[in-house]
Amino acid sequence: YEPLAQIDPEVQNIIDKEIWRQFTGLELIASENLTSLATMEANGSILTNKYSEGLPSARYYGGNEYIDELENLCRKRALEAFHLDPAKWGVNVQPYSGSTANFAALTALIQPQDRLMGLGLPDGGHLTHGYYTAKKKMTASSIYFQSFPYSITPDTNLIDYASLAQQAKIFKPRLIICGASAYPRDWDYAELKKTAEKEGAYLMADIAHTSGLIAAQELNNPFEYCDVVTTTTHKTLRGPRAGLIFFRKDSEHTKDLEKRVNDAVFPACQGGPHNNTIAAIATALKQAADPSFKEYAKQVIANAKTLADELVAHGYKLQTGGTDNHLVLWDLRPLGLTGSKIEKVCDLMGITINKNAVSGDASAQTPGGIRLGTSAITSRDMKQEDIKVVASFLHRTVQLSLLLQKEAGTKMLKDFVRVATTDVGKEGYAKVK
Ligand code: PLP
Repeated sequence: YEPLAQIDPEVQNIIDKEIWRQFTGLELIASENLTSLATMEANGSILTNKYSEGLPSARYYGGNEYIDELENLCRKRALEAFHLDPAKWGVNVQPYSGSTANFAALTALIQPQDRLMGLGLPDGGHLTHGYYTAKKKMTASSIYFQSFPYSITPDTNLIDYASLAQQAKIFKPRLIICGASAYPRDWDYAELKKTAEKEGAYLMADIAHTSGLIAAQELNNPFEYCDVVTTTTHKTLRGPRAGLIFFRKDSEHTKDLEKRVNDAVFPACQGGPHNNTIAAIATALKQAADPSFKEYAKQVIANAKTLADELVAHGYKLQTGGTDNHLVLWDLRPLGLTGSKIEKVCDLMGITINKNAVSGDASAQTPGGIRLGTSAITSRDMKQEDIKVVASFLHRTVQLSLLLQKEAGTKMLKDFVRVATTDVGKEGYAKVK
């Protein structure tokens, strides 16, 4: 055994730099979090060596005695973490990520070229919910299925459940997907269930962003109404990068979903499961079932609300005016700034955020907003008082950008960003810092 630093100093050096970046910066990307050391230990374990295609007790390879024990433990913990009765719900813990979990779920629920409806990407939906552009069907969910996006209302920026019901009546989807990547409010699953039932469609919730908050019972419960629930495990749930598919098995409508979902994951969409990741999911789920995780989830939401209140108090415009969950969507268009510029200026300040479309944006390439999330900074034990300081940093960043733009024109701000992000600029900036 020789350590990484000895075998491969180049990779070790990159990891060291990333450690420095993560520990010295403020991580405000809503889809990221800081997983525990125990989870990372499981993820980096010897379990990566093992092939185990199939399911516990039905594998295509020998030597899976302990892997079976692990996958069963992970499945049990996944059901427990979301307070599910094993007689009514099952779970597949093998998806490599949220995108593969979603594609496997679609494969299980509907046939190629069947119709589905998901929230449009510019309104906060995810690529895997049927996204396409006027020019191209660019995601598997729109290439292999016919999709029609529903939207938020232009005045309130909330999901337009009434139009959704109207559109579903005409489009006749076989599947309605709810859940989002950039929607700061909670979902009305009961209303969606009514529409799905009326049209004879399955209802699937993708809770990738909010699963930690749902496990902690701090948001509405999609399991009461949905047939299938998918999630990533690395966002508010604070686990390794992976996905889960929960399927209902207690009704006539869903009684064969167990086999359909399991077959869709393997062999339809994936090969051998990543057992090291499954171990890490199990560890993260154990941590998510601890009472301290409920406190964490509560704090994530309290912090996001404080961040929203502070930005509004500074006079800024937020989509929907605030938040119910871990994220805030900040509309920069009234200031004459774009999301990409502020993302770059924030990078220079050691604050990591991402540009994001806001309602009515003309172009997804130069969106007029940014998305902020409090999951990672809450994992660093930040409380409301700290969030006020974070909000003041963001305020000063935006004011600096406005000042540069006002004093020297848009070109000056562009030049500042361009020069500061070249290697020479970065070096100069590092010295100044
Ligand atoms: N679903 C939603 C709602 C997401 O926000 C994301 C990622 O951000 C995904 C699915 C895809 O997850 P992954 O990046 O693990 O494939």
